[in-house]
Amino acid sequence: MHTRRDFIQKLTGSLIALQISPALVTAGCNNIIVPYDGPLLRVAIMGLGSYGTRVAEAMKDCKKAKLVGVISGTPSKIKDWQAKYNIPEKNCYNYENFDQLKNNPDIDVVYVITPNALHKDQVIRVAKAGKHVISEKPMSINAKDGQEMIDACKKAHVKLLVGYRMHFEPKTLEIIRMRKAGELGKVLFFQGLCGFTIGDPTQWRLNKQLSGGGSMMDIGIYAINGARYMIGEDPIWVTAQETKNNPEKFKEGVDETIQFQFGFPGGAVASCLSTYSMNNLDRFFLNGEKGYAELYPSTGYGPIQGRTSKGELTQPHVTHQTVQMDEMAGIILEGKQPVVPVDGEEALKDLKIIDAIYEAVKTGKKVDLKL
Ligand code: NDP
Repeated sequence: MHTRRDFIQKLTGSLIALQISPALVTAGCNNIIVPYDGPLLRVAIMGLGSYGTRVAEAMKDCKKAKLVGVISGTPSKIKDWQAKYNIPEKNCYNYENFDQLKNNPDIDVVYVITPNALHKDQVIRVAKAGKHVISEKPMSINAKDGQEMIDACKKAHVKLLVGYRMHFEPKTLEIIRMRKAGELGKVLFFQGLCGFTIGDPTQWRLNKQLSGGGSMMDIGIYAINGARYMIGEDPIWVTAQETKNNPEKFKEGVDETIQFQFGFPGGAVASCLSTYSMNNLDRFFLNGEKGYAELYPSTGYGPIQGRTSKGELTQPHVTHQTVQMDEMAGIILEGKQPVVPVDGEEALKDLKIIDAIYEAVKTGKKVDLKL
């Protein structure tokens, strides 16, 4: 009797015999493994830090995307990554010379995973080198910069995507499906709680020059983006209040805790919290006239867990970054349309909202939004 393991071993053996890259072999899908011989997105990662490392590891399991290059300011990291991921010398760059990407036909896209305030210039330089770009969130530190990035990518005829990994997460997508199908009825309320206790006071996340702000830029953005994809509308007003208990650690312009509220055109409201001073805050709750949906945890690396008024959500756990990069390969190479957009315009809306939240904190007034 042939087991699934026999089949996979046989298939892997044949592929090795044929010298087909393991990157071209799909992960399991409904218990069947099928070789993938479609187009491959060749990716260079810029910024070999903590999240860049996570993305690189996750990409080992991608079928449509492959890590082929690096851009880094740290020569020792470049050496390590070359050895670990088999990256040729000709695909290695630093922050001074990466404009030379324009002469490299073996890289399709650069994934920018550096501190927030650096994204704008780096993305624009990559676009000018004629490569597609994926920027990490937040795309930039304000809407004006975000618009410049979009314009530069349009001018260069390259795609600009943003690392919104939750847009591909199965339990999240199931709630969006239910809401669209009317299974929750008219949506009335969203609550998004996003935060963690941040450590080392010397890290770039607490340096306004590099971070562009505080918890809102880093983690509050999940509640902003989540409110939009869970409710399925863009907010038309925002109010916000800041609390700062540790001004020593959270200096001028670096927010510690902000509560914010949105109003939506369909009548729903949202109430959210963004903080760098509390743990156990990673929860989304969506309430409609006919039912509710809850994710807790909602945006961590997983497993995401959740339930709705119809019962537990049982969609399988996936490695977010693996699925994200495979889906982004489909978007860039084949023009696929994701359920929730991950392009520059989508990210610009979040930046406009962040600008408005900071304005509401400063003025104490309700700020109208036109997204
Ligand atoms: P790290 O500090 O771990 O890494 C950032 C890397 O950027 C550094 O290791 C360095 O790499 C490079 N870099 C270039 N210039 C500087 C500079 N002036 N100061 C510090 N680092 C610099 O940060 P993260 O990886 O955690 O975050 C990077 C980005 O990814 C942020 O925008 C963040 O918001 C986003 N992120 C997204 C997550 C998600 O789930 N989508 C999760 C975590 C982060 P090198 O030495 O190679 O030059």
